[in-house]
Parts: sequence; structure tokens; C-alpha cells
Amino acid sequence: MATDYYAVLGVRRDAGQDEIKKAFRRLARELHPDVNPDPKTQERFKEINAAYEVLSDPQKRQVYDLGGDPLSPNGGGGAGGFGAGAAGFGFSDIMDAFFGAASGQRGPRSRTRRGQDAMIRLEITLEEAAFGTTKELQVDTAVTCTTCSGEGAAPGTSAQTCDMCRGKGEVSQVTRSFLGQVMTSRPCPQCQGFGTVVPTPCPECAGDGRVRARRTLTVKIPAGVDNGTRIQLAGEGEVGPGGGPAGDLYVEIAETAHPTFQRRGDDLHCTVTIPMTAASLGTQVPLQTLDGIEEVDIRPGTQSGQSIPLHGRGITHLRGGGRGDLIVHVEVQTPTKLDAEQEELLRRLAVLRGEERPSGQFAPGQQGLFSRLKDAFNGR
Ligand SMILES: [Zn+2]
Ligand SMILES: [Zn+2]
Repeated sequence: MATDYYAVLGVRRDAGQDEIKKAFRRLARELHPDVNPDPKTQERFKEINAAYEVLSDPQKRQVYDLGGDPLSPNGGGGAGGFGAGAAGFGFSDIMDAFFGAASGQRGPRSRTRRGQDAMIRLEITLEEAAFGTTKELQVDTAVTCTTCSGEGAAPGTSAQTCDMCRGKGEVSQVTRSFLGQVMTSRPCPQCQGFGTVVPTPCPECAGDGRVRARRTLTVKIPAGVDNGTRIQLAGEGEVGPGGGPAGDLYVEIAETAHPTFQRRGDDLHCTVTIPMTAASLGTQVPLQTLDGIEEVDIRPGTQSGQSIPLHGRGITHLRGGGRGDLIVHVEVQTPTKLDAEQEELLRRLAVLRGEERPSGQFAPGQQGLFSRLKDAFNGR
């Protein structure tokens, strides 16, 4: 038995398990075939594995110390004797233990990826939001290149296995850190991790598998959408690299301001201004609603700030049907710039109603305070 396992690992014959393990780790990192592929180094790598296999196992170490060779019990020679056989654990076990099971097994990444979602803003009027509409949209997105069908290779050519990483998509590398030498894998620089290279890229898309194009889409806008509502059009977004499946297109609604109506939820609000006389005597005011002209009934004695709901004249509920209300807020205008006759008439009205010195009206809770103030004012 020629091989001196202690010499192979560079440890003394009385070295402890920790020392043996440390020595092996250091050597294994240095001599790993991924780091140092030359045949002599690989031979030495096998030796240190064999040495470790024996010396790390107290029973085998004892056999060895007594002059036997635990790796070749039949005396068939040492080299190559380690492995999966009698030892019970094999080459790949050792590799996994030190370099991680994932090493080199992640595989190349696909050239085909899902595309991104796209978003487009669409302005609509209040009427369109209330009742729904259909719109034609111009969208600029990436679409699959028809010249190469998304493959990225020029017609008549095809992608080929990368010779630098042999199709694995990654290469291994040893870097020095404060922990010692660390083996890392990184994407293959030649193929960017794809495992394949495209020798002659498609001239139309430069190998991306997609090109930008303008399309016209017809979009149905449901009744009840609001500012910021997003309508999702599945698969109408950007086609992915390599002709991958398209993302979704989101149409975001922007509602333009209406000259008459303000929207709050599905209700609409507007203000009508009427003269004091009309508020007092009652009248009808024609109002252009979303459903045409309607007469708003102002009842006699309507106060400023009162509101009149027109039920079901608002925006359609997006879910569940039905419609919101149209709320008409009344603003009573006090007459100004009175001529002599009008002023006389109003004074007469005031006298008739006993309002020459109006007492005013306060909210019920303020009544007590008001009477005290009045008393103070009148000197009583
Ligand atoms: Zn192409
Ligand atoms: Zn490669």
C-alpha cells in the first residue's frame, strides 16, 4: 500500500478529526475539477477524497493504521478505489457536502418570458361613464416578431448550444473571501445564462423575438366606471422576450369634468339658482339631466340650501345595476339693485309681515343665548 493518506492531506499521524476535516476542505476547494480541470489535479483530487474517506472514519482509519487498505480489501490497488462501492458514500456526496447540491443543477434560463403589463389612460365623459360606451383605442405594445415567430433567430438559422457553459447557462468560479476560497456559480457571460446562443439574430427584431407595433383595440367600457377605474384586458399587454406570453393591458378611466354635474360616488349634484320670489311662491325649473330635460319642482317656501333629489337620475351602479340619484341643490338669490317701485313694494311686504325689525332665527340650541343677547341689546 503505497499511498500515505496522512501525507496526502498534509496532517500528522495523530491529527484529530477537526484538523483532518479542515485540511480536506482546504484541499478540496483548491483541487476541485470545476476550478482546476487539468488531469493531474483531478488525480490528486481523487487522492485527497480517498484519504479523507479513510481518515474521517475511525474504523477505516484504524484498519489503515494497522497496515491495511480499507478501500481495497482485496488488495486490488488504491487509486480510484474510492467511490460509491464499499465506502457507502460516493464522489457526488462529497461534492454536495462541500459545494451544495444545487451546484450546476439549476439549468439554463428560458429565452421566453412573460411580457409586462401595460397601462393606457382613457378619457371619457360623464355621460359615457353613466351609461357605458365602446371605444377604439390605439395601443403601442411589443408584439411577437412575425419574421422569426419569436425565436429570435434569422430565418433559416436556429439557436445553438453555448460552448462556454455547454448549455448549462452558468459557469463556476472560485473567489477568495475572508472565509477562504468560495465557489460560486454565475450566469454564463457568453450566453447570458440562456445555455444557447443565436449566431445570426433575426434582422427584424435583433433577436428579441418581438417588435413594437401599433394596434387598434375596441374596448367595451361598462356603465358605472369612475375616475381611476381600471379595465383589465388579459393578454393585450406587452409580448415577452423570446415571443413570451403577453402581459395584460389596463385601461385606466379618466372622467372629464362636466359643466353642470359633480359626481360623488354614483350620485350627481348640481345647483340651481332661483329668485327669492320664485322660492317663496314656488315654480318649476327646467333642468337638462343625463336623461333629457326634466322639470324640477320648486315647492312654495323653498329655502336656500335645500336639496331636491331626482331618484334614479344619477350614474349606473357598476355592480348590481340600478342608478344613483341626481341631487338638485337650491340657491335662493336675494334681489339687489332695486328700483324705487320695487323697494317700496318690498317695504310694504315687510310691514305686512311684521318684519320691519326682524328678530332673526337661530338654531334651537342657541335660543337661550340669543334671548340674553337681545335683552342686553335692548337695554332690558
Ligand atoms: Zn424576429
Ligand atoms: Zn453559456
